[in-house]
Parts: sequence; structure tokens; C-alpha cells
Amino acid sequence: MNDIAADPSHPRYKSLLLRHLLEQAAEKGMLAASALIAHGRGEAFDYLLGEQTTPSALIATQQAAARLMSAKRPVISLNGNVVALAGREMLLVANALGCPVEINIFYRTPERMTALLNHLEDIKQELNIDVEILGANPDARIPGLEGPRANCTNKGIFSSDVILVPLEDGDRCEALVAMGKFVIVVDLNPLSRSAIMGNLTIVDELTRFAVNLFAAIGEDYELQDIDNDALLSDAHAQIATNATKR
Ligand code: ATP
Ligand code: MG
Repeated sequence: MNDIAADPSHPRYKSLLLRHLLEQAAEKGMLAASALIAHGRGEAFDYLLGEQTTPSALIATQQAAARLMSAKRPVISLNGNVVALAGREMLLVANALGCPVEINIFYRTPERMTALLNHLEDIKQELNIDVEILGANPDARIPGLEGPRANCTNKGIFSSDVILVPLEDGDRCEALVAMGKFVIVVDLNPLSRSAIMGNLTIVDELTRFAVNLFAAIGEDYELQDIDNDALLSDAHAQIATNATKR
């Protein structure tokens, strides 16, 4: 790790740490080349949002916990960035819910799949938990999507009723909603297609969300009707406020 990323007093410590996690994941072959670009887009929006969880995003996270807890067949979909940045918390949440996780990557190669599976297995061993990791052998397809991006497993994503898909693509998110699932999205960009397509969008940084979600699992939050447009409007308003403050 470089000196700055090792120094917690550095004002950009957290951001540098996340970049470092992604660098390490890239070295292990877990990421597609575009992963760092996607992260950079997220960082830009996090700056605009003030680099902290907004009250609205926290409420949305608590609602995500309530939806996942009341689901019949919850599942957590993981891509490379999610495994690299929040694999540990996502496995802890899946363990608490007793649900599987499914690796669902845009650019699928056997090498990437193996690198991601190995990383998750290492975390499982370290935490001494037993969470089913799906995705290595897809046997179903998400209707309305072309090519390998439609691949999923029957046991996981295909038959799920509530799905958490952090950092998902807009069209895949839309296809999951069209299947009748309740789709929970995490995306720092409230203008992205993913954010707009989801049933419940948490506009927050993934690692902050993951910690808050794990804390909320097991709590007794009442299920509310979700007005996702209102959640996105809250994020727009936060960005406008921050932008005019200076
Ligand atoms: P669209 O959803 O409009 O189709 P996209 O999905 O193609 O856009 P990408 O750059 O591929 O856009 O996706 C990355 C998305 O993930 C961005 O919207 C970015 O804000 C978000 N993102 C990246 N890193 C994080 C993170 N750590 N936490 C939360 N969101 C993030
Ligand atoms: Mg997107």
C-alpha cells in the first residue's frame, strides 16, 4: 500500500483505501478493465453527495433490510466491484438472512469467475460461515436480455422474489423488475438508468451501505410503501444543496 493510503489521518484515507482494494482485486484477476472507470464515476457522485450517508439513504437501507427479511427467496447478486469492496459484509448479510449469493458478472470469463469464487471462499473460511455461492454453473436465463449477460441460476436469481443488486446495469435491472421481482439497487448516481429502474434505490456508497445494511438486519423496521422517485429526488436535492453551498 502506498504511504497515503496507509495513513488514517489523511483526508482522503477512505477513498484511497477503496481504490487500493480495487487495485488488489484487479491484480487477482477479479475485475474487468472497466471496473475502475465505474468506480471513478461513483466517486464523482459521492463528492457531490458530501461523502456521507444521507438520512434518506439510511431510511432506504433500513427498508432494504425489512424487504430482504420478509422475502420468501431473497438473493444477493454480486459483481466484481461488490466482491472486492464489500464481499465480506455481503456474505455476513447473506449468512444472517440464510440466503445464497450469486456471482453475476457482465464480462464473464472462467478466470474471473474462479478469482471471485476463491476470494469469497477465503472470506467464508475466515469468518467461519456457510453461505451458498451460486453463479459458477448457470442453468437459467433472464428473459429480455441477449447473450451471456442473461445467464443466471434457477436456484438463485431466477426464482428469487427479492433481489439485492448493488451496482447493477440499467437494462439488467429493468429485466429483473419485468420478471416481477422486487429489485433493490445501490448506486451513487441518482440519474443512472439502474437507479431509476429499481423498485428501491439506495443512493449511497456501497461500503457505507453494506455496513448500515448489516446493522439493520435483525432490527424490526416496519415495511413501508416505497416511493422510489422521492428517494431519487432527495439525492438530487442533496447534490443541489452541496453544489450551491460553496
Ligand atoms: P446506467 O445505469 O445509466 O446504465 P452504467 O451502469 O452504465 O450507467 P457504469 O459506470 O457502468 O454506469 O456503472 C457504475 C455505476 O455504479 C455508476 O452509476 C456509479 O455511480 C456507481 N458506483 C460505482 N462505484 C460505486 C460505489 N462504490 N458505491 C455506489 N455506487 C457506485
Ligand atoms: Mg448503472
